[in-house]
Amino acid sequence: MQLRGTGVGGGIAIGRVLRMADPLPEPVDRPSDRTPDVEAERAAHALVATATDLAERGRHTGGAAKDVLEAQALMAADPTLATEVANRVRGGATAERAVFDAFAGYRDTLAGMGGYLAERAADLDDISQRVRAQLAGVAAPGVPSPGHPFVLVARDLSPADTATLDLDQVRALITAEGGPTSHTAILAREKSVVAIVGVHDAATLSDGDLVIVDAGSDAVIAAPTTEQVADAERRIAERAAIAAAPPEPGRLADGTPVPLLANLGSAAGAEEAVRLGAEGVGLFRTEFLFLDADRAPTVDEQRAEYVRLLEAFPGRKVVVRVLDAGADKPLSFVNDDVEPNPALGLRGIRALRAAEPVLRDQLTALALADASTDADLEVMAPMVATVEEARYFTTLAKELGIRVAGVMVETPAAALIADRVLAATDFASIGTNDLAQYTMAADRLLGSVAALQDPWHPAVLRLIGEVGAAGAGSGRPVGVCGEAAADPLLAVVLVGLGVTSLSMSPSAIADVRSSLLGYTREDAGRFARIALAADGASEAKLAVREAASALRGESGTGSLNRGG
Ligand code: PEP
Ligand code: MG
Repeated sequence: MQLRGTGVGGGIAIGRVLRMADPLPEPVDRPSDRTPDVEAERAAHALVATATDLAERGRHTGGAAKDVLEAQALMAADPTLATEVANRVRGGATAERAVFDAFAGYRDTLAGMGGYLAERAADLDDISQRVRAQLAGVAAPGVPSPGHPFVLVARDLSPADTATLDLDQVRALITAEGGPTSHTAILAREKSVVAIVGVHDAATLSDGDLVIVDAGSDAVIAAPTTEQVADAERRIAERAAIAAAPPEPGRLADGTPVPLLANLGSAAGAEEAVRLGAEGVGLFRTEFLFLDADRAPTVDEQRAEYVRLLEAFPGRKVVVRVLDAGADKPLSFVNDDVEPNPALGLRGIRALRAAEPVLRDQLTALALADASTDADLEVMAPMVATVEEARYFTTLAKELGIRVAGVMVETPAAALIADRVLAATDFASIGTNDLAQYTMAADRLLGSVAALQDPWHPAVLRLIGEVGAAGAGSGRPVGVCGEAAADPLLAVVLVGLGVTSLSMSPSAIADVRSSLLGYTREDAGRFARIALAADGASEAKLAVREAASALRGESGTGSLNRGG
């Protein structure tokens, strides 16, 4: 039996299912039959125990997981929340209900603030669950640890669950909810966990079931035959051999080079990116350096960060994006207005123009860093919608000493007149996350419209094709740096649409490299035409997958072909 969802990357794994306990239900809203003092004592004890547990787990992990857990421990120990819970208990509520209501109130406040703060809302839900599990004396909802490897099946994972997954134990992840750009999908990609999200029938899987999780084919095969298991084992071994081989530059089967670059948010990831075969950096998101800053960073502070990055890539291309402030990445020193629709407001280049001294400082710092290092620095502007914006940014960047200046194509407007936009700048880099959001009118932060946020949609692909054609016509490079570049089969389609380089999270590079090697330029062009002719995203993906299977002499839509 096959269950379908959205695969993250091209990994494959075999294992037995272990389900994650479903979240605790909302506690009944009834007066407590204990005294307020007893309830207050229970609630206070559960809050402290939860904070201690989270802090303890944070101490035993590293990297992103440590930060997530430490932040959660602080939230659980927050005195304002404790007072809020105590007040509700004194008003007659049970400890369970008081915790539920107090955390829900804070969650709604955070969610209303938008951007990164809204994403913290999920953390509060998770902590509320943990405190109530303490009160009920049951295991906290979360990833089970049976002491042997398993395939984790969950409705969805909290950020803390995903960040702290024990990769020696979890062979693969299957979630019923979530789309290709959900938190779970992004973290799974970052950690190279085989994952399929949005598997609506995941509830039909039971503990102990043997499954093949084939992310490249978007399929979970339940109760597989002996042949299917043998085929999957062969492919797992093949992928391990590819991962172990020294990385080579990206190219198609006919030798056409397709540079594979890294998306980075700090210089700390540079070494790992090079180890995984990144040929340079295609997107350095500078706003991640300054998310917590309450004043604009100085030229010197910025220069030090950029030097650290550029020094890691001597002789290689490094594309740095100037601050993309606003919407999902607000920066207090750039965006101080409350906007009803921040994604359609003063973000990206628009916000920087309104705060031009910040932009000037950043370009100056970048030019200084470039002058003292050996990387080939290129700088680009986010959220460009007009030729005039492209001209403004390119002129200012050059005036301040930047040698190569380009623009991101993330709005349908820029894509539709890409020929004129490219005439005003040096290169284009397509941000497919935002391009899909604006083309499909589907908020990228909203789970309820995640299915529409799909770069396989022919409308999005047609816009990418416009930019590719404009690049070919003008001889200017056109990269893709959104999540689409990390999808091994879509990567081939993008090349067929005229894209000349691909930038992605470093863990995706090996799969994309091996997929590109399977096809010629002619195949890529044909796949692009097939995808463009489809009615929708899933039809496009299926039709290209079938064409790829046929080409490789394999049969059927569920075939386990490489890159598909
Ligand atoms: C994009 O929009 O595709 C992109 C690469 O930029 P970000 O995800 O940082 O908005
Ligand atoms: Mg973007």
